Amino acid sequence: MSRQEQIYDLLVLGAGPSGLTAAIYAARARLSVLVIEQMLSGGQIATTEKVENYPGFPEGIDGLELGQRLEEQARNFGAEMVLATVEKVNLSGAIKEVKTTEGSFRGRTLLIATGTRARPLGVPGEEELKGRGVSYCVTCDGSFFRDKSVMVVGGGDSALEEALVLTKFAARIYIVHRRNELRAVRILQERIQNNPKIEVIYNTVVQRINGRERVQGVTLHDVEMNRTWDVAVDGVFLYVGLIPNTDFLNGDLARNEQGYLITGEAMETSIAGVFAAGDIREKGLRQVVTAVADGAIAAISAVKYVDEHS
Ligand code: NAP
Repeated sequence: MSRQEQIYDLLVLGAGPSGLTAAIYAARARLSVLVIEQMLSGGQIATTEKVENYPGFPEGIDGLELGQRLEEQARNFGAEMVLATVEKVNLSGAIKEVKTTEGSFRGRTLLIATGTRARPLGVPGEEELKGRGVSYCVTCDGSFFRDKSVMVVGGGDSALEEALVLTKFAARIYIVHRRNELRAVRILQERIQNNPKIEVIYNTVVQRINGRERVQGVTLHDVEMNRTWDVAVDGVFLYVGLIPNTDFLNGDLARNEQGYLITGEAMETSIAGVFAAGDIREKGLRQVVTAVADGAIAAISAVKYVDEHS
């Protein structure tokens, strides 16, 4: 039987830590599982140089490697994987349908684990200079800025962590943050304070990214002093938060104001047989450790649902 003809017990959308953990647990419980991923196993961590707060890896672990290991573990238990982009879902019937660029797939249960993506800053120059000095991924583009000056925008864990990775390449790194206090965890704040290549510019927002063919600089505005000035940089890395990847969903599922899916403790959504796990959920802490926990819980809920409905 082809994959399109089969009705899987569980379809997992997204091969990040939550989706792959769900696949491990569900396949181990002997559900038939298909994981649909559009890019790389690991999700956001696949572009993280080192995950250093996932328990059990005292030296840290390369994000790409962790993603590959999770995939291998899921496959070992019999989960199948397909590389495809989800276009639409139909959640109205007892069998859930997922339309993708590689055809349609069907499942008795569905887990949405599509995570988040970088939020655009929305300033002039950003869209025009994307890929020409404006980036959302240090792991992908950092090495293009060897011995150059770059700016990182944002004050969260991502901004600081990626600024530290940039110190391997760039000569000078400015972190621009809109408030007078960073949001990131203390250890990252200590590391940037102790790094002579990094300067933090507080109380300041980006007004415009400047450049014709490539980024040449940024116009900044100090919101305290009401002062505007230009800084010459070759690259701008934007880490101003995340938005949930829910474009393929219609309005069927309950969400909060920011668009994150609302679930109960068993990871159930507002539609029976449809679960959500990981960063896509409304939750207090978005980390690998909470994503894998969500995935395990969602898988066990799916097992229970399949048992009760067969
Ligand atoms: P975040 O925590 O939401 O931080 C976004 C940063 O961008 C904040 O400092 C915010 O400022 C700033 N910002 C938002 N909108 C802005 C705007 N329009 N103009 C200027 N600045 C703006 O996002 P994140 O750093 O990507 O982290 C997302 C989640 O992943 C967090 O839960 C984080 O803990 C987690 N994460 C964890 C690790 C780790 O554990 N190693 C690494 C990376 C990410 P304000 O502070 O003023 O709101």
